[in-house]
Amino acid sequence: MTLRRVVAASELRTAVDHARRFGSSIGFVPTMGALHEGHAELVRHAIDECGVVVVSIFVNPTQFGAGEDFDAYPRPLDTDLALLSELGAHVVYTPAADEIYNDHAATRVRVGGLALVLEGERRPGHFDGVATVVSILLNTVGVCRVYFGEKDWQQLQVVKRMVSDLAIPVHVVGVPTARDRDGLALSSRNSHLTKKQCVVAPSLYKALLHGRELIDTGEIDPAVVEAAMSKALANESDLVVDYLVAVGAATLQPLDMLIGDIRLLGAVHLGKTRLIDNIGVHVAGE
Ligand code: AMP
Repeated sequence: MTLRRVVAASELRTAVDHARRFGSSIGFVPTMGALHEGHAELVRHAIDECGVVVVSIFVNPTQFGAGEDFDAYPRPLDTDLALLSELGAHVVYTPAADEIYNDHAATRVRVGGLALVLEGERRPGHFDGVATVVSILLNTVGVCRVYFGEKDWQQLQVVKRMVSDLAIPVHVVGVPTARDRDGLALSSRNSHLTKKQCVVAPSLYKALLHGRELIDTGEIDPAVVEAAMSKALANESDLVVDYLVAVGAATLQPLDMLIGDIRLLGAVHLGKTRLIDNIGVHVAGE
């Protein structure tokens, strides 16, 4: 089957309803485009598990804050469509902004708790924008398996929370982070890095691995692990740490002791580019 491009929500609904009527399960991969191997992994998982795979490409204005890179966000649509075709996705939805947000739109979806820390604290309104656009897209696609990357761990947890709280009839699937050979998590924003910054960028992942090593060898004090991760990045040129934390994997809240499912999350500024990454570690409880 060739890739079919649709631009209207009504067309997408019709395509999905048609597939369902013929017995296909639906896999859905929401993206902002500038697709790379990380997105490709989500699409491959969806193709493995579902009959018909829908990918959306929409650079969502409401999840960018003032002064963030909405205008500069890469939009290589032709390359994206070629990749999706090659991967075997069935439908790509590329709505214009007014197809998603009508002129009279007055509703925002706001997740509390875990959405208010870390990225939520640094990027006020970001997760409101994410939760709102994901709700709109899921209401258009309907019952499906929806795929999100662990690369954006907090986003994945926020979406899971929202889907559960609002009883949205979809199953959220998390997909492990795709990385370059040097460990750098793939991201559309990596294209903004200079050659020199590309050499420094993998140090974020290395700092997280260092934190995990400490935990694996018995350290259970989050403050010690967090300080060690920061120290590992102290001498990297052009790199400024935003946060490096060891928190509860599902709640993203600080812990007194590192026991259970832990997530190490970091954000750094590398010149004008902001990078985020995370890894997991499990510590058996007493
Ligand atoms: P974006 O286009 O940045 O909104 O990302 C769309 C989806 O791809 C999100 O669920 C991301 O978490 C996921 N994603 C982005 N980068 C990666 C990566 N390196 N590995 C796995 N998933 C990713």
